[in-house]
Amino acid sequence: MNILTTIQERNPGEPEFLQAVHEVAEYIIPFIEQNPRYKAFKVFERMAEPERVIIFRVPWVDDKGEIRINRGYRVQMSSVIGPYKGGLRFHPSVTLSVLKFLAFEQTYKNSLTGLPMGGGKGGSDFDPKGKSDAEVMRFCQSFMTELYRHIGPDLDVPAGDIGVGKREIGYLFGQYKRIKNEFTGVLTGKGFEWGGSRIRPEATGYGLIYFVQEIFKTIGETLEGKVITISGSGNVAQFAAEKSIQCGAKVVTMSDSDGYIYDQTGITAEKLAFITELKEVKRGRISEYVDRYPGARFFPGEKPWGIPCDIALPCATQNELDGHDARLLIDNGCRYVAEGANMPCTTEAVALFNKERIYYVPGKAANAGGVAVSGLEMTQNSLRYAWFKEKVDDRLRIIIKGIHATCVQYGREEDGHINYEKGANIGGFVKVADAMIDQGVV
Ligand code: GLU
Repeated sequence: MNILTTIQERNPGEPEFLQAVHEVAEYIIPFIEQNPRYKAFKVFERMAEPERVIIFRVPWVDDKGEIRINRGYRVQMSSVIGPYKGGLRFHPSVTLSVLKFLAFEQTYKNSLTGLPMGGGKGGSDFDPKGKSDAEVMRFCQSFMTELYRHIGPDLDVPAGDIGVGKREIGYLFGQYKRIKNEFTGVLTGKGFEWGGSRIRPEATGYGLIYFVQEIFKTIGETLEGKVITISGSGNVAQFAAEKSIQCGAKVVTMSDSDGYIYDQTGITAEKLAFITELKEVKRGRISEYVDRYPGARFFPGEKPWGIPCDIALPCATQNELDGHDARLLIDNGCRYVAEGANMPCTTEAVALFNKERIYYVPGKAANAGGVAVSGLEMTQNSLRYAWFKEKVDDRLRIIIKGIHATCVQYGREEDGHINYEKGANIGGFVKVADAMIDQGVV
């Protein structure tokens, strides 16, 4: 039986996980055929099976005194090149399938950074939206009361993802410290005053733009004057927008689950500060942007992919950009798509980008800046030291340059075009696969 059929039969009802495996397999299976030692050691089959999955009950009490039950997870996918590493997602759409796809992708992404980090992901179907700080705290404390026994600074180091930011990391860290009675770097994305790294909040968004700059260097272009559409308005979208604006590009859209705003004149640094305040402090909706800046328009229930642009940066969530959206983008002249979110483009969208020779960069390469700086946060915690912002930013740039170089090494096609999807998948695979062979059948 072929590899994919076996994986498919073993994971019924897990569409997101199978989608992620299929997209990687498209490049890895031919690569394995050319490199039979990977076949003999069954590395791909082993990579598609998590080392361990933990599923647990998370009971908590809401502000009305009512008992609520959520489900918590940690998928420990691979520890072959370092401790499990990856974020926690709190969102109603969280299922085992979603977390397995994210943990699978994370293993490749972390490998690409060149840092010693394995792959993991976790979270809960808990929805922080509309909850009070006290409710979020009680939920986080209950979640950590089970999770603490499965993680540790040399074992598994969670971080943030959708629905988990500095506030949640703070509550989770406080509870871990209280239970274990030790102050260790067990989570990343911590506040700077209590063990966090400079540039970690910015890292995913900045890294995304540094990657686009690397592409542009290879073709003699710059970001100056380029029109960019961004989806999302969370941490990744905000800092991708900030760096784009600093580079002289014009960002015209941002969105949330209610719809998107289109500001034809461009979102300036000042307007972006309004969005950041709106989202991070007031926890408001993106539609409020047009009340403050009436020249802009809000499109309820829609995505920004119909707006003409040079570069599209999907920074919201998985499968938010489908084949139809991809067609619209291409027909409107978009030539570059870099994923700030994890797997935001559907399989059809990616196929179309590749067919039309669009520069398409998958999340495992394009958004690796976040976890890369998490790796640097772990380094600083081990050193019991805090680097200056410039030092972290320099390292981030060097890491992104390295990921780009890996993609070029493994992704160059016969006609010279760089297939970043192929390059990222094979580049991420090789390091993990070689380490698996070195470590025997485990
Ligand atoms: N959740 C982020 C990601 O998808 C960051 C993970 C981390 O910092 O460990 O890569």
